[in-house]
Amino acid sequence: MKVPKSKKKFITIMRVMTVCIIVWLLAWIAASVLYSSVVPAIAGAITSCLFAIILAEFYYSGVEFVCPDCNIGFVPKRADLMKNVHVKRGRKFTCPSCGKEVVAIESFRGDMDD
Ligand SMILES: [Zn+2]
Repeated sequence: MKVPKSKKKFITIMRVMTVCIIVWLLAWIAASVLYSSVVPAIAGAITSCLFAIILAEFYYSGVEFVCPDCNIGFVPKRADLMKNVHVKRGRKFTCPSCGKEVVAIESFRGDMDD
């Protein structure tokens, strides 16, 4: 999926996709209750996971972080980012330029173009 040039669009897509995944999962859970079978819920959970991975990839391709100390933007390693996303809002990364562990400011790669 192509990352849009505008930050607003990027955030909107992220939000819409998150809502879609939740609705999708709920629909399958509802089907599970309706047919009193766990199969739809499992199918829903698996497909939701796949969508979540796609969404995470999309996020990774659009995001960058800015070190508050030296103001340099950087893209953390995929594994580091995924690990950090699950730890609160403040995202601690080791800045590649000054080597300090900082709470980096989430930014958008498209912003660098201007
Ligand atoms: Zn730095």
